[in-house]
Amino acid sequence: MRTRELRLVGRRTAALVAVVAGMVVGASAFGEQGPGFQGRRWLGVPEVPPFVHDPDHEIVGCGKACRARALAAAGLLPKFAPVPRGGTGAVTADPALNTTDVLSNAIDIEVVPASNFVSGSNTITARSLVASLTTFPIQLVSDFTISAVEVTDPAGTYSLAPASVSGLVGTSFRRTITLARPVGLNQTFSIKISYGGVAITGGTSGFDSIAFTTNPCGAQEVSTLSEPYYAGTWFPCKDGDNQQPGDNSDKATLTLSVTAPDTLVTTANGVQQSVTTPAAGKRKYTFVSSYPIATYLIAFATSNYTKWSYTYNIPGGGTMPVEINAWACQDTAANRTATARIVTMLETLAPWYGVYPFAGEKYGVYNFQFGGGMEHQTNSGQGVLNSDSLTAHELGHQWWGNDVTCKSWNDIWLNEGFATYTEAIWQEKRPASIGANGTPQLLAAMNARRPTSTTGTVYCTNVSSVATIFSTNNSYYKSAWVLHMYRGAVGDTVFFQTLANYRAQFTGRAAGTQDFIDVCSATAGRDMNPFFTPWVYSPGSANLQGGYQNVVLNGQPHARLMIRQAQASPAPIYNMPITVRFATSAGNADRVVNIDAQTDYFLVPLPATATAITIDPGTNTTSNWVLMSAKSTVAYVAGPPKVFSLSPAPGASITSNPPGSITVAFSDNVTASSANFTVTRDGNPVPFTFSYSPTTFAATLTFAQPLANGNYIVTVSDAVTANGQALDGEVAASGNPSSLPSGNGQAGGAATLTFAVAVPPPPCRPDFDGNGTLQPADIFAFLNAFFAQNPAADFDTNGTLQPADIFAFLNAYFAGCP
Ligand SMILES: [Zn+2]
Repeated sequence: MRTRELRLVGRRTAALVAVVAGMVVGASAFGEQGPGFQGRRWLGVPEVPPFVHDPDHEIVGCGKACRARALAAAGLLPKFAPVPRGGTGAVTADPALNTTDVLSNAIDIEVVPASNFVSGSNTITARSLVASLTTFPIQLVSDFTISAVEVTDPAGTYSLAPASVSGLVGTSFRRTITLARPVGLNQTFSIKISYGGVAITGGTSGFDSIAFTTNPCGAQEVSTLSEPYYAGTWFPCKDGDNQQPGDNSDKATLTLSVTAPDTLVTTANGVQQSVTTPAAGKRKYTFVSSYPIATYLIAFATSNYTKWSYTYNIPGGGTMPVEINAWACQDTAANRTATARIVTMLETLAPWYGVYPFAGEKYGVYNFQFGGGMEHQTNSGQGVLNSDSLTAHELGHQWWGNDVTCKSWNDIWLNEGFATYTEAIWQEKRPASIGANGTPQLLAAMNARRPTSTTGTVYCTNVSSVATIFSTNNSYYKSAWVLHMYRGAVGDTVFFQTLANYRAQFTGRAAGTQDFIDVCSATAGRDMNPFFTPWVYSPGSANLQGGYQNVVLNGQPHARLMIRQAQASPAPIYNMPITVRFATSAGNADRVVNIDAQTDYFLVPLPATATAITIDPGTNTTSNWVLMSAKSTVAYVAGPPKVFSLSPAPGASITSNPPGSITVAFSDNVTASSANFTVTRDGNPVPFTFSYSPTTFAATLTFAQPLANGNYIVTVSDAVTANGQALDGEVAASGNPSSLPSGNGQAGGAATLTFAVAVPPPPCRPDFDGNGTLQPADIFAFLNAFFAQNPAADFDTNGTLQPADIFAFLNAYFAGCP
């Protein structure tokens, strides 16, 4: 209790400071708004540095991040020490979230702008997931007094004294309702919690959900923003607790009624069902959301809105309204033009993301006092209406965040990385008439979203800090880069199929980081954990150094290529494909190699001698498809030799003229002896004599006679060396003609190659009827042909039919066939 009291004192002190300072926070976040625009007042949080708009960028990311960054810079975050949750990065299941499945929330509240007063009720309908449910935990901050609790279970309805609600220890928002009688497994029950009080006006972090402000038009505004765990600051709900990882899996349908002064207009999630006048001077709006919605995405805003709408033609049929609620003074021609583009965005994203997830209801955008945006389901709040990137970001969240929701706050990158990447995809895919130019635009957009620091991780390990959850560098920029790099690694077809599969599997639900990686692996057809693990769970980015050396092998120009990962610990070693561009007299040649060690060596064929290399080429100076702190060309340092070629070719099946020798050529001048090679035929050793040419780097194994039919395995030991290093001999598919050159990039590893000799036996000529056996019938068949003057009877092949042919046939007949 003492901690709690101290926190309250802290809040009020903060509010007082704000009043004394007279600050309006975030006023300059959007320079294009001109004088008069005021950012969200931030619930009395004292003055903090505003988000500085970078004029080189459009507004990117969410105001959440900008705000959290500013608060952190001001030393206002985190307020509380991080709460360990089972070790770094571990999500400990919150048992209180696992006992029920909430089916619906029916929130019915009145807000009084003049006094910051909130009162009303939430009726939560839920299903018990346990055999005997005796408690129901809710989140509701202490500022609110619970006046009544009414429970309806299968046996009827009863009331609980407010004293049946306990909790609120330390920083927790959690209170626990003790039921009068247990609810059985799968039984449905409802709890109506009536409450009221003055809402928090001195937030702990600026993210306390409900704000009472005056908007730039001078009108009153009441708006909410609950992400991540602040819904309990304005309505009683089932949610993860304050500063905890939470679990957004339990989504429910929603009826949200807000009563406010009749001078104001209310907008909220879903479809507006009714507008009534409950009392003189009051107006009550009721909205219904039939799509399941996570607790943190429930929101409303009440202000002097002017409403207009557009029509989106849903692919496959039907229409959907796109509703704009602008502050009256923001109903400008520019904002009308800008918001009309939302329809174009919906059209642009649908082919890549699938149809907008809530097409049966609406998509809305409304002004609210916030230096950025918040993707409330079906109804995004935005500080400004004319930022394409902001609008695309919040719209992208409707798929990634709202339809498929990050399971815990550790997984926030799945929300924000996708939404940030949506900004870039919009720039890439938007109609040419408004500026798209495909890949160069995509790369430029990603260049503008390079993290300025990568000391944190994409996976959020400290969810007690809102600044960490909404870290611009980690949760937005680097996360978008992880998606961009995955796209680069697997190609567009697999990438967008991954999104389709991810959505299909988790629509209306929540997904964690491993869930997403598993979908990537399944879609790509290979284990993507080695790619994602270092990028998602470790700090840092790549610093790639490339060196090369020209060499002509078998008359073909090649480059020996070295790629070194020079990033310093704790940055990890990455495992991913990269493109290297070789400049040659025959033009640029792009080659893709897979790096997976501190230094990897490759041997690549080229059309002509290389004169320069560029790692990860593209329009950006440094990073195009790989997030790098730096890249450079360095002197080549000799690496291990590789098997360059085998003759006969790996996988060959020889059907005539079996060879009397085989040749194994290397990439370098090797030190090798006969002891380094073995040849087996159907498992039995085949002896050979050995020679090696330092000119062609080729070993020749010569046999006593042409190779007999059979399956051959040639092995080359990594005792073969060059440049003081052992052979890099691994062969991925020894029976594949394209499996050479050998190697996994590092010294060591024997080569195993296969081929077959399968020469068919000579035909048995006296088997004249070709039935496979010599019988008297063959004699009759021959004689018939002979007397019929059939050229096939020219058995001695001298061009004429003569008796000598008969003797030749009979001699062969009686000699038999093998
Ligand atoms: Zn976002």
